[in-house]
Amino acid sequence: MNEFELIDLLTRNFTNQAHDLKMGVGDDCAIIESPERDWLISSDTFLEDVHFKLHHADEAQIGARAFNASISDIAAMGGAPRFFTVCLGIAKGFKFDRCKALYEGIRRAADAAGAILIGGDTVANPAGLMMTITTIGEIRSGKAILRSNAAPGDAIYVTGAVGEAALGLACLENGSCQDLFAPFIMRYLEPRPRLAAGQWLAETELITSMIDISDGLLADIGHLADSSGTGYEIHLSDLPQRDDFDMVSSALKLNGPTLILAGGDDYELAFTVKADKVDRFDQLLGEGKLPFDHPMTRIGRMIEDADRRLVLDRSGNPISLTRMGYDHFE
Ligand code: ADP
Ligand code: MG
Repeated sequence: MNEFELIDLLTRNFTNQAHDLKMGVGDDCAIIESPERDWLISSDTFLEDVHFKLHHADEAQIGARAFNASISDIAAMGGAPRFFTVCLGIAKGFKFDRCKALYEGIRRAADAAGAILIGGDTVANPAGLMMTITTIGEIRSGKAILRSNAAPGDAIYVTGAVGEAALGLACLENGSCQDLFAPFIMRYLEPRPRLAAGQWLAETELITSMIDISDGLLADIGHLADSSGTGYEIHLSDLPQRDDFDMVSSALKLNGPTLILAGGDDYELAFTVKADKVDRFDQLLGEGKLPFDHPMTRIGRMIEDADRRLVLDRSGNPISLTRMGYDHFE
């Protein structure tokens, strides 16, 4: 049983209808309607040695990274973060100064995002450091972009570049300090959730579905496809990558395409543009004056057959892949 089958089995018998509940389990955030806006709610847990290692980063970086990863789900709906809670588990010997530095990192990231800490919980945890962050965001009523509205023919786009955080983690694990590794390591340690892009996309009214890429590109586009009842086709050669990506991945004896397609932790956005609005969308991108400075790249399209999930090489031949992304239970 994988993570998502488990979530489905556990949650399926719960009541999931209420007059003001627009979205419950199954998207990046739940959506609750209120008179002036829709509220977006999402929780994420970060465990020592699963989601981060204490020797890879300082405490402030670990705190900021957890906060930024949490608000990525708000970005994925097109919303703005407003409030958050932090439930903290700490091993008994964990020093106060280190907790303080962790919270300083969270505070700086929250200030940058305009989010306010409104509560949490503190417990001792023999298994090590643990944080559960619940973020509450807002969006204009009815504007949130779901995972489930993509249709066959819609074009798939991605913000920024994927695979760099996974390569950065591999660089950290390799242990040798090389200047070449630094940009990738920073992508892993200091992810930048695409809030401005998400909000801009939601306002264009040309977007049919959106998700943030936390588990890996194919895994997360797979969630869009599952929710929308479609398949997909991705063109590997259309995926953006830094000039030094191949050099660094081969120095570490890693397969570049696998990192790009299945590596997690990038917190970029993947989204679909309505089939007959692609020209209009590309025109908007081309006009400039955008509230973000990263690219948005068309990488494929949704297709009718929900069982066909293809990555094509330069000649249009399907590439076979074994591992599609991160799953906690596989
Ligand atoms: P994301 O990767 O965007 O944070 P997840 O893949 O963790 O989202 O979760 C998918 C959906 O399942 C979300 O709607 C989430 O709120 C819900 N979910 C995950 N775990 C549980 C759980 N243990 N109980 C109830 N809902 C859950
Ligand atoms: Mg998400």
